[in-house]
Amino acid sequence: MAKALEYLTEALRRLPGVGPKSAQRMAFHLLQHDREGAAMLSRALYQAVESVNHCALCNTFTEADVCDMCADEARDRRLLCVVETPADQAMIEQTLTYKGLYFVLMGRLSPLDGIGPKDIHLEKLLARAADGVVGEVVLATNFTNEGEATAHYISEMLKARGLQVSRLARGVPVGGELEYVDAGTIARAMLDRRST
Ligand SMILES: [Zn+2]
Repeated sequence: MAKALEYLTEALRRLPGVGPKSAQRMAFHLLQHDREGAAMLSRALYQAVESVNHCALCNTFTEADVCDMCADEARDRRLLCVVETPADQAMIEQTLTYKGLYFVLMGRLSPLDGIGPKDIHLEKLLARAADGVVGEVVLATNFTNEGEATAHYISEMLKARGLQVSRLARGVPVGGELEYVDAGTIARAMLDRRST
């Protein structure tokens, strides 16, 4: 195989769930049938890697130092809601019940996959929550085993610093991922959140 083609195949294998065969199929497809798409993909990737960073406050993706939501003066700075992903954050926003700010972990604790406190930015969360303005941290990680374990760990960590912590109420089904729960249920769970 041509060196450049081999390199492309190796690069495509970095994508989650892509094995050697499908990587090769993708590479052939791009070079044979969609060179324009291939060029677009390469430009988009380059641009995203150069310009997209993590928000200094909430850790979500942004092209600025601080994302639009964290910069929004209308949000209630005394509330900080911890979610696993930007998709979960979007779900909570859809409920229109929450006007505080967020911290996006970009994952969850998962010892079996080697994902520990460092990988989900807990030091950054701790610094954020202890800014002296935040009065309540609302844990809105998923109601899966890993999400619950993550909520428990964060709750202990923040309470040890004297911070007030609450957890979404159990309207969300056991094993439930926020992304797939309807907005009404999440709204209820947010309103009924309780101290941990
Ligand atoms: Zn932000």
